[in-house]
Amino acid sequence: AQEHLHQSQKMEAVGQLTGGIAHDFNNMLTGIIGAMDIMRRRIATGRFEGIERYMDAATTSANRAAGLTQRLLAFSRRQSLDSRPVDVNALIGTLGDLLVRTIGEQVALETRLDPTIPAGIADANQLESAILNLAINARDAMPEGGTLSVATSCVGIDPAIAAGMADAKPGRYVVVTVRDTGVGMPPELLDKVFEPFFTTKPLGQGTGLGLSMVYGFAQQNGGHVTIDSTPGKGTAVSIYLPATERAGIDAGQEMPRAPQGAG
Ligand code: ADP
Repeated sequence: AQEHLHQSQKMEAVGQLTGGIAHDFNNMLTGIIGAMDIMRRRIATGRFEGIERYMDAATTSANRAAGLTQRLLAFSRRQSLDSRPVDVNALIGTLGDLLVRTIGEQVALETRLDPTIPAGIADANQLESAILNLAINARDAMPEGGTLSVATSCVGIDPAIAAGMADAKPGRYVVVTVRDTGVGMPPELLDKVFEPFFTTKPLGQGTGLGLSMVYGFAQQNGGHVTIDSTPGKGTAVSIYLPATERAGIDAGQEMPRAPQGAG
């Protein structure tokens, strides 16, 4: 049960969000439909006095429904707003305990962080949940145990290589690779895994949102995601984030600094 805690929490959050919104929205539509119905009957029987009240009620409900969808749009857009240079190695370091708890005792954790990488452009909170999502998938792919490795590197993608890739732009990237020694995926599965709600997990254990969120997150930050998987051998998922220039770090805008003085 412990092993599925994160997964079920994720599910529950998504379920509550969509359920709550659907319920609110439905109430607003019911208000509009009800007011229209009364107006139609009043008009049919020539009772026009006080009809504005129902028009106002319908307008109020419609405005509230519009407000709700505006907030939803703002919520989904919010994801790209807090992108800034992140010390990816330090972030993985602070995730350590949580990662260990996520993968459970059967899976060994190995980290290989390249200390020379520059900062990557990302929303730190989203990068954390992306890595945790990949760790959950890795754990689920290794029911009999295995090794989860989290590695960082910095790579350049030149224009010729980018031209052959569907969604990669040329440039320098900070790469976080989460690799497992699990069941792996056949090619026909690989084609579908980024689709929202695509899951092969039993009902209640998979939302099918993990990889699509990881993908959306990387893209919103100007990066992309690659998957390398061999059935029976394991899977490596790499998140590519745009790298900052070293000069930027020297300019003092990159890393959060320790507070100066006692305050
Ligand atoms: P979920 O984990 O909720 O199913 P995801 O979008 O994260 O949703 O993953 C979609 C599907 O991709 C999974 O159901 C699984 O079949 C496959 N998958 C993802 N990660 C791995 C992995 N590391 N090893 C094997 N299969 C994986």
